[in-house]
Amino acid sequence: RKLRVGIVYGGKSGEHEVSLSTAQAVMNAFDYDKYELIPFYIMKSGQWRVGSTLEGPLSSQEDLQLESAAGGTVKAMEMLFTGLESPSAHQQGIDVMFPLVHGTNGEDGTIQGLFEMANVPYVGAGVLASAVGMDKAFMKQAFHIAGLPQCKYVDFIAAEWNRNQDEVLDRTEQVLGYPCFVKPANLGSSVGISKARNRAELVDAVAYALKYDRKVVVEEFVDAREVEVSVLGNDEPMASVPGEIMSSNEFYDYKAKYVDGKSKMAIPAPIDVELAARIREMAVTAYRAIDGSGLSRVDFFVRRSDMQVFINEVNTMPGFTPFSMYPLMWKETGVSYQELLDRLIELALERFEAKQ
Ligand code: ADP
Ligand code: MG
Ligand code: MG
Repeated sequence: RKLRVGIVYGGKSGEHEVSLSTAQAVMNAFDYDKYELIPFYIMKSGQWRVGSTLEGPLSSQEDLQLESAAGGTVKAMEMLFTGLESPSAHQQGIDVMFPLVHGTNGEDGTIQGLFEMANVPYVGAGVLASAVGMDKAFMKQAFHIAGLPQCKYVDFIAAEWNRNQDEVLDRTEQVLGYPCFVKPANLGSSVGISKARNRAELVDAVAYALKYDRKVVVEEFVDAREVEVSVLGNDEPMASVPGEIMSSNEFYDYKAKYVDGKSKMAIPAPIDVELAARIREMAVTAYRAIDGSGLSRVDFFVRRSDMQVFINEVNTMPGFTPFSMYPLMWKETGVSYQELLDRLIELALERFEAKQ
C-alpha cells in the first residue's frame, strides 16, 4: 500500500498562520501515487483535529482548518498510538509523521517527544536537537564547544532581572555596549526581538522579551550581511549552496519575513568561492554540534567591515513553502521540492530503523 504520512500543522505558537501556508504547499507537492496523507491540525487552543485521508491536494487553506470537522485530540492520539498498542494494527496506523509546526511545542522537542513515545518515525530533528535549536542560550553553548565563532552575548532569566536589574544592566553594558539586540531565548520569526541603543531602551527591550519567555539573550549588534545554508541528512549531512537575505526593514523582523514581501533573496549568495565553502563547512559543524537530523537551516552573519563570519542560529523547522529559503537553496544545489519531501521521509524512516 501507499506510505501513510501524517501532516501536522497549525499549533499554539505565534507562527500558526505560517504553518498553515507551509502545510498547504507541502500537501500540494506530495506525489499522491506514492503517499496517502492524513491531516493533523492543531488549533490555537492546542486541541487536535484529524481530517480524513487525502488522496489529492486540498483546494484552499480554509480546508485545512478542521475546527469542527472529524476527530478530536483523543482520536488523533489513538491514531498515533495504534501501532504501539497493538502491533498487528500497525497496518492501519501512520507510517511516518511530518511535523510542520514552528516555534513552541513544534520545533522545541515536545512534539518530537510525543512521536518518540508513540514509537512512530517522524521527519526532522529529534528531541535533543530540537530543544537545543530552540533555546538560543543553549544553542550558543553548543556552538562554543564546537569552536564556531559567534558574536558576544549575555543571557539571564527573569528571576535574576527582577532581583537585581542594575547588576544585569551593568554587566550587559560592560560586555556588549550599544547598540545591542535583545531576544527571548525560546522563539523564532523574530517575535519579541528588539534593538536597544541606550540603557532606557535596553530596559524596555528586556521587559518586552520577558513577555515571551523567562529567559533572555542580549547580543552585540553586528552590522552584517545575512547568509544562510540548508543542511539535509542524518549522520552524513550535506550542505546546500549559501543564500543571502536582504531585509526590507532595518533588521529581518516578522514583517520583513512574512508580511511586506519586499525582502530579497540572492541564491547563491554573491560571496567569494572560498568564503562560501567555509560557510558550508561551518553549517555542517553547527548541525553536528546540536546533533541534528533530517533538516536544518543554519544562519550566519558576515560582518560588513571585515567579512568575518559569525554563526547566528540553527532552525530545525525552517520555513518550508516552495518560496522559502530552505527549499530554494536546495533547488539551486540541484534538489527539487518534491525530491526534498521524498528525501525527508526516507531520512525519517532510516533514523527510526537505525534505532530499533
Ligand atoms: P529568530 O530565531 O527569531 O529568527 P534571530 O536571532 O535570527 O531570531 O534574529 C532575527 C533577526 O534579527 C536576524 O535575522 C537579524 O536580522 C537580526 N539580528 C539578530 N541578532 C542580531 C545581532 N546580534 N546583530 C544584528 N542583527 C541581528
Ligand atoms: Mg530562529
Ligand atoms: Mg533567524
